[in-house]
Amino acid sequence: MSYTPMLKQYLQIKQNYQDAILFFRLGDFYEMFFDDALIASRELEITLTGRDAGAAGRVPMCGVPYHAADTYIARLIERGYKVAICDQVEDPADARGIVRREVTRVVTPGTIMECLEERKHNFLAAVVEKGNAYGLAVVDVTTGLFMVTQIDGRDALLDELIRLEPAEVLLPDIPLYRELAGAVKSRLPKAVTSFWSPAAFERGEAVRSLQEQLGTGWTRSGLSGLPLAILCAGGMLNYLKATQKRELGQINRVEIYCGGQYMHLDGVTRRNLELTSSLRDGSRWGTLLWVLDHTVTAMGGRLLKSWLERPLLDVQAIRARQDAVEELVNDSLARQELQHLLKTIYDLERLSSRVVYGTAGPRDLLALKNSLAVLPKVKKVLCNKKAPLWQEIAGDLDCLEDVVQLLDEAIDADPPAGSREGGIIREGYHPEVDRLRQASREGKNWLAQLEAREKERTGIRSLKVGFNKVFGYYLEVTRPNLDLVPADYIRKQTLAGAERFITPELKELEEQILGAEERLVQLEYRLFTEIREKVAAQVRRIQQAAGAVARTDVLLSLAEAAVKGNYVRPKVNDGSRITIREGRHPVVEQVLEPGEFVPNDVDLGGDTRLILLTGPNMAGKSTYMRQVALLVLMAQVGSFIPAASGEIGIVDRIFTRVGASDDLAAGQSTFMVEMSECQVIVSAATPRSLIIMDEVGRGTSTYDGISIARALVEYIVRRIGARTLFSTHYHELTELDVLPGVKNFTVAVEERGEDVVFLRRVRPGRADRSYGIQVARLAGLPGEILQRAEEILHELECRQDGGAVSPAPRDLPAHREEKTAVPKHPILDELVKLDLWQMTPLEALNTLAAWQRSL
Ligand code: ADP
Repeated sequence: MSYTPMLKQYLQIKQNYQDAILFFRLGDFYEMFFDDALIASRELEITLTGRDAGAAGRVPMCGVPYHAADTYIARLIERGYKVAICDQVEDPADARGIVRREVTRVVTPGTIMECLEERKHNFLAAVVEKGNAYGLAVVDVTTGLFMVTQIDGRDALLDELIRLEPAEVLLPDIPLYRELAGAVKSRLPKAVTSFWSPAAFERGEAVRSLQEQLGTGWTRSGLSGLPLAILCAGGMLNYLKATQKRELGQINRVEIYCGGQYMHLDGVTRRNLELTSSLRDGSRWGTLLWVLDHTVTAMGGRLLKSWLERPLLDVQAIRARQDAVEELVNDSLARQELQHLLKTIYDLERLSSRVVYGTAGPRDLLALKNSLAVLPKVKKVLCNKKAPLWQEIAGDLDCLEDVVQLLDEAIDADPPAGSREGGIIREGYHPEVDRLRQASREGKNWLAQLEAREKERTGIRSLKVGFNKVFGYYLEVTRPNLDLVPADYIRKQTLAGAERFITPELKELEEQILGAEERLVQLEYRLFTEIREKVAAQVRRIQQAAGAVARTDVLLSLAEAAVKGNYVRPKVNDGSRITIREGRHPVVEQVLEPGEFVPNDVDLGGDTRLILLTGPNMAGKSTYMRQVALLVLMAQVGSFIPAASGEIGIVDRIFTRVGASDDLAAGQSTFMVEMSECQVIVSAATPRSLIIMDEVGRGTSTYDGISIARALVEYIVRRIGARTLFSTHYHELTELDVLPGVKNFTVAVEERGEDVVFLRRVRPGRADRSYGIQVARLAGLPGEILQRAEEILHELECRQDGGAVSPAPRDLPAHREEKTAVPKHPILDELVKLDLWQMTPLEALNTLAAWQRSL
């Protein structure tokens, strides 16, 4: 088919960007064609039109104005598309034939710079797989954060990805990886998976990419001992280079991390403990982050989130954080002052990345300057602090006076948003800028003088100088005065009530003024980009300062939370005991009225290795168990804890198995999910772990449930020895306190007549009843149902005491005397003798079937 030359150019370019929507620059618009136009018009709700394509007829088209493109691009990215931006790369005035166009950047979910949530990192992750070992690299192009690690095992890899929540996961484009891609997709439904040339992930090429990006830093990076990390990091850099097509100077350092430094939290546990997003709707409300987050900068917000997801294991490092927090807890003045100062600091990490990318405008540079200008004051406050961590942060806080000075001298105090509008460069920075400004100002003066002179010469009092884009400057004379117009005026335009003229002198002035303005805009743009490049060269220093600000903000936030919540500093040590006096659940206590939350103690790890917790529904069992896990986690983050006192022996991993999980969508039954979570726990827990198990075995029949729960308790105590909190409905399990280290605890309730009052006190002992009916009453179930339930319960209890009677249906006369008169069926005898504990469900079914046949 033959297309117009422009569309031929389009199709040729589009060929290389099949998986992206191509934004094709035409004049002031980015246009999309063919299928891209259909998708974009639907997703962006913009009108679909058509364009004459030559012999091929009309083809679908739609477009967005180029100055508003960012928001449209962000919308497409959010929906999981990629966008290739194709710009004109020569001046249309110089072009012979069709203007040359090239793709200048491909925006993908993991590489978008604009319109992002500010308190969250936007990660691109890359993975390589070798057997059961993985290399993982992650980068946030908006801040320059670049980290790599190696991980053993698919589950651990997926857990780490879930923790990082990357927007995009990059894999080598070979069939072998389709299966991994499927696993990633099902565990991280929001992430886009992208494939990239396998050659980029090969060692030689990968090392080349790393050397190119990190320069000499590469040899010092310590990466050489991590072969898989090299492959994925190199492949990722190659992808970034190909899609971003520009300098990525903000990525200049690689952080190697390994699981061993941090408490391990699997995805299920992070979700169950509601660290940063709630189980209810995924929002921040009601999470631990929500309680602890008093950060005032975007950088601090992001860092606090990652601290909560990675509690420390090293006692010294935790104490160092605690010392820093404590010093601020005791110094409200410093807290106030720091908060006040940090509030005025913009997102230095993202600002500096925009500077490097060349997308920062004059106002961004101004914001950068104003933010950097605050640093000396911050540093002064920190230098007065004694804690070694404060000293370290103060040492890292480079105040970048040279950059501030440059920006101060160069950038106007009130610059425009765009960089091609002039008015950017400050008076006195560059003589030529000053001269051109003077010329344009004077030119305008001369115009005023010329107007006055012409008025006098012609005697036309209403004569005035005007300007429009088509004719430039002109002299306007109203119709009644036209006979006074001198012969040297040249007529240019006739309007209804007036005529417009020019004179050679006016045109000369015009040239001077407009010429000066045009040159001025060009010069200012050139100077601006030079300044931006000078700042870009300092990106490492800016990032380091940003890191120091972020750490300050997070420690300040922890201090603020400690003061507001009346928290104490826990003692952390390498021992195995967890002792908390009067601990409170940090989130639940916030939601309740002040004083309403009942504090509870815990002592685990000494004589007690496993607490078997019984108590009615709604008594507060889950709250208590989560509370213990959260306080341990907070302590290892370096935070203070809501308690009267606490002593925490470091925990290497926290595991939770709590309630029904939402993996149902992945096609697993509740019980199957429950059992696979238990499998993970028993296979990975160590004596230093903390295990929280809530009502295990609920998803199956009672006997199955009891058996599994009991066997689990025995295994954990005998084989693992992890500190464990185990809540259960099954009172039968309380007999397990014969095992060494197992202790019964219960959440106390009090009976008042028909009702039950929750005391919320955890104390040694076992619950003797479930109070299910009382709880149902609290929930407002109709009286008729409650009464009937009481009847059934009573009868069931009698049966357990030796009677062999099934509860009678309601419509039969239900008198016990009558029932004893009924002759016994032989099957009933058999039934009583059955040892259900020893039967599989299948055997039970077979027995039932046999009885049925015999009747
Ligand atoms: P269970 O797990 O025993 O069914 P939960 O832990 O879900 O009970 O607690 C039920 C409700 O009781 C919670 O929603 C909370 O509002 C309240 N609660 C729990 N513990 C306490 C406490 N220590 N002090 C005050 N209220 C509590």
